[in-house]
Amino acid sequence: MHDLICLIKGCQARVYAPAGTHSICREHFLNYLTWRRRRGPQMFMKYAGMTMEERDPYVAEWANTIRVEEAPTASAPKT
Ligand SMILES: [Zn+2]
Repeated sequence: MHDLICLIKGCQARVYAPAGTHSICREHFLNYLTWRRRRGPQMFMKYAGMTMEERDPYVAEWANTIRVEEAPTASAPKT
């Protein structure tokens, strides 16, 4: 894994675990884990037997469900 920061666009966190041929941060890894669990135990088992390349489409599908603030400075100030 040669990625230095999270695969998720806009996320600047350091990588924690592989996701397909890329890497993701801890927070997103846990999110991905939850997403896979929600798809059922069969999906979970199947995924475990996949190669990194075979996992990429699932990573991409999951990544599309992720929302990351693209401009954190534009968020409303805390009171
Ligand atoms: Zn991340």
